[in-house]
Amino acid sequence: MRTEYRHDLQKRSLLLVIFLLTFVTAFLLKNSEKKETSAAVKDSSTLVIDAGHGGIDCGALGLDGTRESDLNLAIALKLRALAELYGQDNLMIRQDDSTKSDTEAYSEHRDLECRTELTNSARNPVYISIHQNTYPTGQPSGPQVIYAAAEGSRDLGALTHANLLRSLYPDCRRVAEPATRRLYVLSHVNCPAILVECGFLSNMIDLERLKDSSFQTGLAAVLMGSFLQFRSNTERI
Ligand SMILES: [Zn+2]
Repeated sequence: MRTEYRHDLQKRSLLLVIFLLTFVTAFLLKNSEKKETSAAVKDSSTLVIDAGHGGIDCGALGLDGTRESDLNLAIALKLRALAELYGQDNLMIRQDDSTKSDTEAYSEHRDLECRTELTNSARNPVYISIHQNTYPTGQPSGPQVIYAAAEGSRDLGALTHANLLRSLYPDCRRVAEPATRRLYVLSHVNCPAILVECGFLSNMIDLERLKDSSFQTGLAAVLMGSFLQFRSNTERI
């Protein structure tokens, strides 16, 4: 990767983290002025972070052999670090290169069931699933946010998609889309839920960015900032 391109990425990521810090500070100050009961309700949400795939299921493969499951986990761990920094309750669906299937032989269906059960067992969950896209040709690029049918999901999805475009993918013209029944977890969790395809492993420019640790931090910052905006906008959380 060219040095100036890397510097540009690092500068963008630093700006994102500054944006996040500014937003969170304003958010905390605003909430501290509210009644105690309101703050107690808002503080009870759990950010569920699901790094897609893992273990035997590596997901999509990049043009250079990069495994989707590894990128998903790297971004998820950065998102958890930010959540911890702000004292946000969180639940990692997986923390290493492992599957959630608890059957003797790997079962994709059981893996997805376990992710769903874990999410639904969390206290007042808000679910963010992290994935990477792929396509037969190298042309498509940029993020794709897919939202569940459950209440609040569409708002969280639209907010996250807009923030990703504004901060990291200004040339992308895609819009957030509702999930189909094909996406098991989004169809079976009963909380605000989105799946974020961070970029295309089949596109060389996206692939280089997605492998860059600074860019991953930028993605995590956008996801964290979007969650906090959603939380502050939502009465029930
Ligand atoms: Zn995936």
